[in-house]
Amino acid sequence: SVIPAETDVAIIGAGPAGLFAAFQCAMLRLRCVLIDVLPEVGGQCAALYPEKPIYDIPACPAVEGAELIANLERQIAPFDIPRLLKHRVEGLTGQRGDFTLTTDKGTHLHAKAVIIAAGAGAFGPNRPPLDGLGAYEESGAVQYYVRRKADFQNKRIVIAGGGDSALDWALSLKDTAAKLYLVHRRDRFRGAPESLRQLDEAVAAGQIEKVVPYQLHGLHGANGALSGVEVADMDGATRMLEADVLLPFFGLATDLGPVARWGMDTQRSTIPVTPSNCETSLAGIFAIGDVATYPGKLKLILQGFSEAAMAAHAIHPIIYPEQALHFEYSTSKGVPAA
Ligand code: FAD
Repeated sequence: SVIPAETDVAIIGAGPAGLFAAFQCAMLRLRCVLIDVLPEVGGQCAALYPEKPIYDIPACPAVEGAELIANLERQIAPFDIPRLLKHRVEGLTGQRGDFTLTTDKGTHLHAKAVIIAAGAGAFGPNRPPLDGLGAYEESGAVQYYVRRKADFQNKRIVIAGGGDSALDWALSLKDTAAKLYLVHRRDRFRGAPESLRQLDEAVAAGQIEKVVPYQLHGLHGANGALSGVEVADMDGATRMLEADVLLPFFGLATDLGPVARWGMDTQRSTIPVTPSNCETSLAGIFAIGDVATYPGKLKLILQGFSEAAMAAHAIHPIIYPEQALHFEYSTSKGVPAA
């Protein structure tokens, strides 16, 4: 739908928390616009682990990241909520009842209240400092997320890293890959005991070759097509691993980015909020999901859902100052037919 120049609530971030906030706002007749810098909605679930099952969403015994997002989309579909994708919100000025948001594309949006659901901020992977990396990233020879396992069918894969992600993906891709190397700069991996046991088993069976203690040293190939990954041991002796794909899992850089410049109190990469309504230190600006913090905060999707409801209810009096909000259950109220 058309992006309006003004709305009631601007929701910054269309991860699970932002998507559900859109639903909660719509149920309370608050107009909203969803904004995300990524080309698709879904935040971490869609970008980082679409094919991984999540087990702790209430009443969903197991749901894959992408499936959870598809369900959230179905839930808001009846409201036809405008979304501004591929737009990073750079500026936020104004006050309760009258905010202006400015994006990197120069778009302005006026909103009476703001919900920041920016997760880990403009999250991005920690990239290895290797010459010529950009060309291989562009061609997909170096990737930081596994979107579709099928893309790695019969590929020679180098996975780098020593934590849960490196281990999980090595185990998950070992049957898909033609050859799988697991490079880590220490001898020992940090992971769940069951994953470590499965790793030993896969190494013994020749499905995974551990390359330890080694670190990434260089990329070889031409025009974005990778032919080998050079690794070096702690004394600088190098070894060439023939490979089509490199998957470095060195963690996510969490950087609040522009959010940190908007004037509300922040604490490292998070925004402290009042736990009862998720309001930040600036009136009219709320924060929910991974980006929000308070004593006892759990960085879980279910927590973000509940915070979305609290923020929407707290925003209602800003938009409808004359109307007391008569609380209604969704069962008695219903939603418009899709
Ligand atoms: P995110 O999902 O981080 O979304 C934030 C969005 O905001 C992003 O799309 C980002 O692009 C956008 N954004 C940020 N800044 C701006 C800006 N300035 N302008 C525009 N857009 C912006 N949680 C569970 O509950 N259960 C699990 O089993 C589970 N498993 C996980 C497994 C993995 C591998 C990972 C990485 C996470 C897992 N999590 C799990 C955590 C869960 O994914 C997060 O808690 C959840 O995604 C947080 O949702 P969010 O909407 O707050 O933020």
